[in-house]
Amino acid sequence: MKIPENAAVRTAINDAAFVLSEAGIGNARGEATLLAEHVLGHRPGSSERMDSEKWQEFFSLVGQRARRVPLQHVMGIMYFRHLTLHARSGVFVARPETEMVAEAAIDAAREWVARGVSPRVLDLGCGSGALGLSVVSEVPQTLLTAVDISPAAVELTEENAKFVGVPARVILADATQPEALREALRSEMSLAAFHVFATNPPYVIEAVTQPEASADPPAALYGGGPDGLEIPRRFLVSAVALATPGATIVMEHGETQGEALVEAARELGLENPVTRPDLAGCPRFLVAKTPES
Ligand code: GLN
Repeated sequence: MKIPENAAVRTAINDAAFVLSEAGIGNARGEATLLAEHVLGHRPGSSERMDSEKWQEFFSLVGQRARRVPLQHVMGIMYFRHLTLHARSGVFVARPETEMVAEAAIDAAREWVARGVSPRVLDLGCGSGALGLSVVSEVPQTLLTAVDISPAAVELTEENAKFVGVPARVILADATQPEALREALRSEMSLAAFHVFATNPPYVIEAVTQPEASADPPAALYGGGPDGLEIPRRFLVSAVALATPGATIVMEHGETQGEALVEAARELGLENPVTRPDLAGCPRFLVAKTPES
């Protein structure tokens, strides 16, 4: 393609949509429009034009996306609920289905606020921070602690907390090891029992077919064991060990894992464990409570 001096944005978006469509991107026009907005820094007007520099920048991003780099990595940002967060390779990109998991944790945090308590919320395996940061940004009374085993995730969650403008303690720790986790929290002066747990642990059983998924760090996806539930089960044990009486645990799971996770929760003495569906109607997350006393 020849680089135009002064291209109509509409034409550039149209050309880009063809490129993306050719590369097998389903929502080609939508993504082309988003990328144009990203490069311009605003929503383009109908007769707007872009100079050759912007045009080249735009098509460089379109080229990356055509090579199936996830849109969030191409733009360096992702959207989650009402938040705009930084995204980068090496850290899991939050999925839309997790927005409802956040909502359940937000509801649980609000219940504590209604009882006059500033809820201490723990995000286990925080990745980009999307889950925990949603809770503290929507329920400002929240005292958020987020942990991850990945230094890149810890760094990105810290960065995102600043970017969003909310306070959070972010700690490098292995959430599968309750004692080590407790130690790590204590050394950061964050030891306390938590009222709400919000977690999206690695639970994927087999390789995901979506090409974008290969951009996520495997440690964020694969839970191990034949049912993919090894890490989710351990996260549950850690949560129970660190919970106040009457705490709520909200944990995302795979479509086929709901019943097994409900059973695991029951075995740990949790009350009324249920699995709730995502917007697509697939069983998607566990909600369970620790006993009141
Ligand atoms: N839902 C994610 C996916 O399908 C997996 C999330 C996870 O393992 N926590 O890619």
